[in-house]
Amino acid sequence: MEKMRYDVVVVGGRVGGSTASLFASKNGLDVLMVEKNQEIGTPVQCAEATSSSTFKTLEMKPSPKYVCTEIKGADVYSPDGNHGHLEGGYAEGFILERKVFDKQLAIESAKAGTDIMVKTTVKNLIHKNGKIYGVVAEHMGHAIEIEAELVIAADGIESQVAKMAGLNTHQTPKSLCSCAQYEMVGVECDPNYLQFYFGEKIAPGGYVWIFPKGDNIANVGVGVRSDTGTAYSFLKKFTANLNATPVELNMGGVPVYGPVDKTYADGLMVVGDAAGQVEPFTGGGIHVTAHCARIAGEVAAEAIEKGNTSGNFLKKYEKLWKKEVGQDLKQSLKYRKIMDRLSDEEMNILAKFLKEQDLESISKMSVLGFVRDYPQFLKLLKEIL
Ligand SMILES: Cc1cc2nc3c(=O)[nH]c(=O)nc-3n(C[C@H](O)[C@H](O)[C@H](O)COP(=O)(O)OP(=O)(O)OC[C@H]3O[C@@H](n4cnc5c(N)ncnc54)[C@H](O)[C@@H]3O)c2cc1C
Repeated sequence: MEKMRYDVVVVGGRVGGSTASLFASKNGLDVLMVEKNQEIGTPVQCAEATSSSTFKTLEMKPSPKYVCTEIKGADVYSPDGNHGHLEGGYAEGFILERKVFDKQLAIESAKAGTDIMVKTTVKNLIHKNGKIYGVVAEHMGHAIEIEAELVIAADGIESQVAKMAGLNTHQTPKSLCSCAQYEMVGVECDPNYLQFYFGEKIAPGGYVWIFPKGDNIANVGVGVRSDTGTAYSFLKKFTANLNATPVELNMGGVPVYGPVDKTYADGLMVVGDAAGQVEPFTGGGIHVTAHCARIAGEVAAEAIEKGNTSGNFLKKYEKLWKKEVGQDLKQSLKYRKIMDRLSDEEMNILAKFLKEQDLESISKMSVLGFVRDYPQFLKLLKEIL
């Protein structure tokens, strides 16, 4: 069996893997990143929206090479068809061309010194002296033993590597949003605004999105948590009257119930979707994954410099990501759970009320008036405000 030796082996070559590799390499480590697909970035499983914080984290510029459009705001449709308009702030960002963006991220990582092997699937972990010490992978029919002081599992929602390490990364039908998306040509939409549609009939337990990519091209997708139909069946229904043509179909799952309980073990850290590091309310994972994966790359460098890759040292990674993004994820999960409790009718009433308010300075009098008319919302508004 062929043998290799690195400081760190990173499993998975998309946002999580390339970011962890990039920052581990920048900090002087000898890194190998392995990706089971033949090309980094494909197939795409994403609606491609992200915020400027992603670029700040990655120390990259939003180049036209991998940014399709700049987003200035969003239109949000409640089940009765009414809509609210959001401008700026959290609703601002970019629509990426992820095929190009993910590959560029891998290129940046390679430039910083990371070795990359595509079409290489991790099959098992190596253990030495009671700790994880690398992986066994398969490349073009050949088994390879890759010894490493540290393994970073960035293998996405289907993650097996963290499970091999004994971590509980199990997702249930309730915690997972199933998504199906077309990239479509001929979608008439404003190129600078996202569209979100809510409702039991069109997307139970999730929402429909239209994210413009410019030139009347858009990602039109549906995320659901439902046993009344597949995400694809809801997508077909929604797009039936759009008079637009699909040029790409992609499907995938998003973990929308918060991070897994433990994201490290002796000799291993877990990042990105594999760790459930996704905003539960929106399903946005690019910026959180990049943030956490950067921390993992930096903690890896520190661990190796100190000669301590024990779980006891690596829990620093979990402490740091929880400190920096943990509160946001908790808040987002709270909103997700509130949303799950609302019927379509309640969503319409609440959306109408919120639309009439200045959200920055929502007045006590207006809230009191609202709960007088709709007392069933008292508990819920207390939780939101
Ligand atoms: C339909 C959909 C729409 C989304 N839209 C958005 C959005 O608009 N904005 C946003 O911020 N987020 C969005 N997300 C979430 C976002 O795509 C993810 O959070 C993000 O890509 C996570 O990155 P990752 O690197 O952790 O995992 P992934 O992108 O899943 O990458 C994991 C990689 O690991 C590889 N791999 C797996 N197992 C192995 C193995 N054993 N050996 C080697 N390689 C392996 C896979 O091939 C894959 O390339 C969406 C997700 C879906 C499914």
